Amino acid sequence: MNKFVTQTADVIASLGTVIFVLLMTIIAMIFVGHGLYYQVFIRCMLPWQAEIASWVLSFGVETTVLVITCNVKYFGSRKLPLFFAICSGFIVLFFINAFDFSQSQLDLAIRWFMGLLVSGVNFVYSELFVKKFNDMQFTTNLLGELELIKHQSSESNQQLISTNAELTKAKADIDRLVDYIAELETFKKKEMDKVTCKFCKTIFPTIFHLNSHMRNCDVNPRKGEKLSVFEAVV
Ligand SMILES: [Zn+2]
Repeated sequence: MNKFVTQTADVIASLGTVIFVLLMTIIAMIFVGHGLYYQVFIRCMLPWQAEIASWVLSFGVETTVLVITCNVKYFGSRKLPLFFAICSGFIVLFFINAFDFSQSQLDLAIRWFMGLLVSGVNFVYSELFVKKFNDMQFTTNLLGELELIKHQSSESNQQLISTNAELTKAKADIDRLVDYIAELETFKKKEMDKVTCKFCKTIFPTIFHLNSHMRNCDVNPRKGEKLSVFEAVV
């Protein structure tokens, strides 16, 4: 039930309903305008000419009103809808002889009320149409921007995932490199120890140089003696 009420409210508040009502008033005004113009044209035209001219003029005027109402944002003045609403009111007033003051007050009141009502409805709906149309365009633009942001966000996420994968790989490479360096340092220390004099800690280019030095090393307590096979570095 609530869904039905909400859907009905959405339909009533939609731009389509505003356009529908606007079109109904315009169609009605085409007939009223035709009646008025015919009364004027018949005095100076043949009946068939007056008939055609009234229909064409009435249709032309009301179409102009519709087009101007829909495109009012392109005009400097926003008073155009008001102007056309007043014109519509006068068309009705002239058509129903509202200026014939020989009628009873009640008849006059009814006619004037109809004229004012048509003016009011025309003005309110033309204003409503413009505001609804602007709202719809704003919503459409907003949805477009939202889609664009979602698309950009998705791309950024993809880049982030890719960058994270690269970072993980780089971290693994660095860890491997650190292990290699540690192994290399250990290896280097071992190789250096092989050519370092254990007495004076001097480093020599080869084991032969070291062996010949160690025998004569100043710090060697047994300087001059031949090194045993355990002491000599091979
Ligand atoms: Zn030495």
